[in-house]
Amino acid sequence: MQQQDPVKRLMEQLSQLPGIGERTSLRLVLHMLSSARESMYTLAQTLTEVADRVKECMTCAMLTTEENGCSICSSLSRDRTILCVVASIQDLMAIETTAEFRGVYHVLHGTLAPMDGIGPQDLRIPSLLTRLSNKAEAVREIILATPPTVEGEATALYLAEQMKGFGIPISRIASGVPVGGDLQYADRLTLSRSMQLRRGF
Ligand SMILES: [Zn+2]
Repeated sequence: MQQQDPVKRLMEQLSQLPGIGERTSLRLVLHMLSSARESMYTLAQTLTEVADRVKECMTCAMLTTEENGCSICSSLSRDRTILCVVASIQDLMAIETTAEFRGVYHVLHGTLAPMDGIGPQDLRIPSLLTRLSNKAEAVREIILATPPTVEGEATALYLAEQMKGFGIPISRIASGVPVGGDLQYADRLTLSRSMQLRRGF
């Protein structure tokens, strides 16, 4: 049943967010209530706008507010022949901070985790395969940059298997990123090295 008291409801809703427990949500709510009400209206407005306008790029599944693809897909300075497959938007952003990769991406929005019931259909794998079968995209190299975790490796293996038929060279990022580590927490140098030292699959 929905909590009737709006303050309690707000606390409950905030505590659903990752990293925010009950104590933090109480602190946030009290802070909001002690600040100018205007800032709460602004926050509510921004939330509504984000909910209404942000969607997945129809090509790479990155989040965007643009109708005709995200800023990377629609950029004229990116090399569309090199496609880097990442598990998450955070990983895409981590690679972007190295400013060395000039290709384009495909965001899976997760890794395969059969134990948790996450299969290929739950990720953006079907759209990736459709994208590769579209000759107009003319991809000449695929870099599998899923994290070096058990799930990330299994996802890379699965993808390599599925993509074999396309005859496009596939490489995997080198393990400069610590095994079991997270791409988004790797330092910039490690990450750009692991992209440079990628090896054929
Ligand atoms: Zn895109």
